[in-house]
Amino acid sequence: MNEAFTQLVKEAAGCTLCPAMCGRRAVLSELNGSPEARVMFIGEAPGRKGADRTRVPFSGDQSGANFDRFLSSIKLTRKEIFITSAALCNPRSETGANRKPTQKELANCSRFLRRTIETVDPNVIVTLGSVALEALKRIEYHELNLRESASQIHSWNNRVLVPIYHPSPQVLASHRREAEQLRDYQVVGKAILLGVRRPGAALAFDHELETKAAPGRRTPKRLV
Ligand code: SF4
Repeated sequence: MNEAFTQLVKEAAGCTLCPAMCGRRAVLSELNGSPEARVMFIGEAPGRKGADRTRVPFSGDQSGANFDRFLSSIKLTRKEIFITSAALCNPRSETGANRKPTQKELANCSRFLRRTIETVDPNVIVTLGSVALEALKRIEYHELNLRESASQIHSWNNRVLVPIYHPSPQVLASHRREAEQLRDYQVVGKAILLGVRRPGAALAFDHELETKAAPGRRTPKRLV
């Protein structure tokens, strides 16, 4: 691990900013992937039966199995990516079930998300679900929402951004079915070609759009 990443892991491991998370441990280590990866996936938070138990993001539960299937559909391996989440600790309700992270917890953890993005410095970011997409607003403001922007390739913070749906069984059953998610991952593959194999192309395209846009425009621009 590089020095900056090691320091980040150490700080996250000792973090007690969220009172409800005090019994949990932040899921951030070399098990999240290579800090040299050019592609970063961002989820919502570790799941009780998944990463909170295995320490590997998107593993050990049905969301992880779905995620692995979608990755392999575009021949992408975990060695090529880095995976993190908007909240690094597993949020649980009083009954012990998974719950969504609160706005305060997301605000607290945005310092780690910002530094993780800066440290790994990926060309391509893929957000999994609306919580992850919203979390990016605290780092560099955008006006995207998942319903309108899913499966499109955007420029954000000098990177290529693809918002897609979360791979949880609930989302697959109701909001974004298997066939649609498989199509979304084809777009992810296209974004990787644009942002990783030809990184200059994405930024050149971005510049071209910027010069046509109104001065001061800060909203993300759709690249494809
Ligand atoms: S969720 Fe993030 S900010 Fe909150 S305690 Fe865990 S590491 Fe700290």
